This record gives sequence, structure tokens and C-alpha cells, in this order.
Amino acid sequence: SPDYSSWPVRSVRSRELYDRARSVVPGGVVGQGRIYDPYPLYIDRADGAHVWDVDGNRYLDFHSAFGAVLLGHNHERIRTAMETCLRERGVTFAAAHPLEAELAERIVEMVPCAEMAVFSCTGSEATLHALRLARAVTGRQKVLKFEGNYHGWNEHLNWSVHFDAENEGGPAERPVPYAESAGVAQSARENVLVVQYNDTESLTRIVEEHRDELAAVIVEPMFFNAGVVLAEPGFLEQCRALCDAVGAILIFDEVITGFRVAPGGAQQALGVVPDLVTMGKAVANGMPISVLAGRRDLLENLSPTGPTFFSGTFYGHTLSVAAAVACTQFLSETPELYDQLDALGRRLRDGLREAAAEGDAQVSVESYGSVWSMHFGASSPRTYRDISKTAKTKNAGVQRDYQRWMLERGVYIHPHYMIRGYLTAAHNADHIDHVIESSRSFFAAHR
Ligand code: PLP
Repeated sequence: SPDYSSWPVRSVRSRELYDRARSVVPGGVVGQGRIYDPYPLYIDRADGAHVWDVDGNRYLDFHSAFGAVLLGHNHERIRTAMETCLRERGVTFAAAHPLEAELAERIVEMVPCAEMAVFSCTGSEATLHALRLARAVTGRQKVLKFEGNYHGWNEHLNWSVHFDAENEGGPAERPVPYAESAGVAQSARENVLVVQYNDTESLTRIVEEHRDELAAVIVEPMFFNAGVVLAEPGFLEQCRALCDAVGAILIFDEVITGFRVAPGGAQQALGVVPDLVTMGKAVANGMPISVLAGRRDLLENLSPTGPTFFSGTFYGHTLSVAAAVACTQFLSETPELYDQLDALGRRLRDGLREAAAEGDAQVSVESYGSVWSMHFGASSPRTYRDISKTAKTKNAGVQRDYQRWMLERGVYIHPHYMIRGYLTAAHNADHIDHVIESSRSFFAAHR
């Protein structure tokens, strides 16, 4: 049974809720992303840069709902748009409504590859629709993905991700060593090819080997599911060139990077334009909506203009679209936000690096814009394997200690096998300095 005494903050009510929830909800949480050892903190409310748990503890939030919150919790512009929508329109109609075209126009304006856009609810749905569309237009079945890139839970892409590369992974060259989930259809496996991130040579060879069968290459253009791992110069360009050469569709999965790293996402920041893009999370500052956008000649293959089925009761959900219109409008009007977030991210990264050096801590700290990560025991990672080998096994203990240390000091970092945080427009320099000083004391105490 869990060792409740080891929990670092006063959390009697969270524990009570956990005991209640786990008899009716598996593990007391809706999804493995919510696990916290020995029990999860139950969050009661959020505002600005903070969340409060049910015991009334306040934390500076760097989880930011897996990056979905970009402007800060409960942002006034988004709240007002939603209140107006509720009052004047309602919740949802599952029918065409005027806000859909407005949102699509905004996306087409902001995102380089977007000539048209459609909406679903989650990132997992958007990537599934993107892949299905790629298969439909190419008449081919195979998809190439990169090890560790996470594209959601769908059958075709939930492969070679979040596994323990040290103990479970086969050789890096072995395609599809691991499906994240038991129960994934094994029949999907024959159509999945896996390459290490940043391994341009293997990418080229494997694409050429499968040139007549390859429907799509899907990639996180910034590998944030491994913390902050950036594409090396030439890597994304080679993805682009190879897709052009063999007639495959290049899909950027910008579910995290979309709207977060630039108004037009990573493709705008990096200057490599895919055929299709999937986005979600930050587009509506936390309301559930995802986007599939891209070339007109591809999108027109979706029903009703084309043969590829596209429909969902909650697709284009009015309240979510209202939030997304307000959010994209705010982002377009506030381009300086990205520089502010970048400056905060650099302040945090430089401060953490300095604190780590002072405390002789073996950590690598990375940031890009508003996203930062810290890996214990790793020099700057390039691939999922670099991270998994250190973070998932060897250094799991110290990472847990760090997360708890930070909780005790009022900093909420998502409980994961790596330390990854998302800054929002509600964070300020004092918040950043608090994280740096709390980390400094951790490094000093764990020399
Ligand atoms: N793609 C990426 C890059 C993601 O990070 C995620 C979720 O974290 C997804 C897809 C899946 O999105 P969702 O959790 O909304 O299904």
C-alpha cells in the first residue's frame, strides 16, 4: 500500500479524494498522465500562473495543462469570449456556425502551410485524420515516425514511445520495437517504420527502401515530448526533400508547438513548411479543440468534398471554437508575447544552468521559447534514447526528489520521468527566480 507519510505537502483532502476515487476510477485518475506518487494532488482551481489543490495549497504552475495553457489560467479575453458565447449562442449545435469560418481564416493567415483547416477535439484525433488523409491521397499505407515522438493514442502512431530504451528497446535500427499500449492492433505494426530523431542518414535510407509504399512522414518539428530536443540543421529539410522525392506527405505534428513557439508554430520559426499540420492545446488556451490544416488539394479530399470520412459530434464545438477565435486573435494582436516568453525561458535556463554548475549537479537544462526541460545525468540529448537511458531508469529517484522538493516550495512541475515545464503569459521574472533559487537549494542539498 502507498507510503502516505512520504508525501511532501499537507494534502489530507487529496488523499481522501484519492481513496474515494480509486474504488470507481482506475488508479483514482483519468489517465496515466495524472499519476503522482504516492497519490495525485487533486487540483481545485487555477488562475493566472497558479493552481490550488483541494487542501488550499497554492503552487506556481509549470505543468500548464500539458502545455495547453499559454496565456495563463482563466485568461480574461478567453473567459469573456466563452461567457458571451454561452449567453448569446449556447454550447454546441453539431451544425455549421459562423465562428468556424472565422477560426479557419485566422489559421490560414497565421500558419504557413495552412490553405484550409478543419477542427476535431483532441490531438490524437487530428493525427489520425492526417494520416488517413495521407493514405487516401497517396494510395499507400506506410507511415514513418521517429522514436519517442508522441502523436497521441491512436492505433497507427502509438508505437515506439515512452518505453524504457535501456531495458525494453531493441537496437535503434530495429523498426517498431515497442507499442506503448497493450491492446494496440498488431496488424497496424506492419505499416509503421521507426527512425531515431536527428538520424538523417537512416531516415534517408529507410525512406528510399520504402519509397513506393510510404504514405507519410510524421514528425514533431521540435521534439518536446522528450523535453526540449531540437531538430539539428538539415534534419527537417531532409524530411521535406525526401517526401518530395518519393511523393509522400510530410505531416508536422504541432500539437505542442502550434501557437506556442510562434503564431505560425514551429514551421514559421524554422522555415520548413509541411504538407499537413496537426495542432491542438494552445490554440484555445485550454479548451478542447484540435486542428488539421494544410494544402487545399489535400484537405479537399475530406468529406463532404472528398472521399475521406471526416465527422464528429463535437467537431467544431461552438464554445471551444469561440475560445480559439479569441485566443488566436489575442496572439495575432500581441506578437511581443513571444519575445517576452523567450526572455523568461532564457532567464530560467541560464539561472538553472548556473545553479547546477554551482552545486556540481549533473543536469542538462534546455529551453526553446516558453518550453524548458531539465535532464538529470544527461548531456544535451539528441534522441529519445539519450533521455530514456538516463531519465527513465538511472535518475528516476533524483528526479522524483526534485519534483517533491519543488512542490514543498510551491512549484508544480508535472510528475513525469523528465522535468519539463511550460511558461505562460502569466509567469513573471519573480516566478522564474523562485524556481532558480529553489533549484539552487536542491542542488546544494544533493551534492
Ligand atoms: N501530438 C503531440 C505532439 C502531443 O504532445 C500530444 C499530446 O500530448 C498529442 C499529439 C495528442 O494530443 P491529445 O492528448 O490531445 O490527444
